[in-house]
Parts: sequence; structure tokens; C-alpha cells
Amino acid sequence: MPYDPSNIFARILRGEVPCHKVYEDEHTLAFMDIMPQAEGHTLVVPKTPGQDIFELPAEALAATIRTTQRVARAVRDAFEAPGVMIAQLNGAPAGQTVFHLHFHIVPRYHGKDMRMTSGAMADPAVLAEHAARIRAKLG
Ligand code: 5GP
Repeated sequence: MPYDPSNIFARILRGEVPCHKVYEDEHTLAFMDIMPQAEGHTLVVPKTPGQDIFELPAEALAATIRTTQRVARAVRDAFEAPGVMIAQLNGAPAGQTVFHLHFHIVPRYHGKDMRMTSGAMADPAVLAEHAARIRAKLG
């Protein structure tokens, strides 16, 4: 199946759908996951279209992982997380549900289970506050 430009992250990139933005540069955008697996769950997407790691040009992938590292530091600091999971799923059998490549950044803590799929929409006011906390750590 070819890349579908009507996917939700493409719509967020075009400004058609709102998001709680954490960071943006020429190549990438980072924003809060709407159904967080843990507080601070942030997504990083390339502006270049590509469904998965196999389809995205290497240069765009490099820019995306650079942003992921930078934002993950800020997420770690903002949520005082001793651990941070970075995840990236390729294909429906791997659990991918949005077919525009993205990295998940999820704070992790000893003895605290992560919700694999919460299915619950977070309170927008809470997401806005979390995005502000992460932006403050990005400086
Ligand atoms: P995947 O399973 O494809 O790796 O992850 C897709 C992620 O996108 C899920 O964690 C889901 O909560 C998130 N998501 C789906 N729709 C939206 C949306 O409209 N806005 C935001 N910010 N996140 C979304």
C-alpha cells in the first residue's frame, strides 16, 4: 500500500489537526501522544512522508533520530524519569496503527508498569501542561 497523505500525522503536519507541540525544526515535529502510555509520552515525526523505517530516506531518518535524542533528554528531565523507552513500530503486525513513521518517547520508572495501549484520551489541559514542561527543558 502506498503512503496515504490523509493519515493523522500528515494532517497534524499540515496544521489541519491540532497537537500539543513540544518541538519543531525544518525536518521534524514533536508533540504529545493523545493516548499516552505514561505521563510525558511524546511522538517525533519526520516532515518527509514515509510509512515506516524502510520507506523513509536515510537523511530524513537521521534528522528524526537526532530530534528524538534531543526531545528524549527533555522528557527525561521534565518527568524525572530514571528510564526512557524509545519505540518505533513497522507494519500492522508489529502494532503500527498510524502509517507515517514516528518514534515514541515514553518515561519509565522502577516498579511502574507502562500502559501498552491505554485507549483513553488524555485531558487536553494535562497534555498542554506536559508539553510546556518538556519545552522548558529544551530551552
Ligand atoms: P503506533 O501504534 O502507530 O506506533 O502509534 C500511534 C500513536 O499515535 C498511538 O500511541 C496513538 O495514541 C497516537 N495517536 C493516534 N491518533 C493521534 C492524534 O490524533 N493525535 C496525537 N497526538 N496522537 C495520536
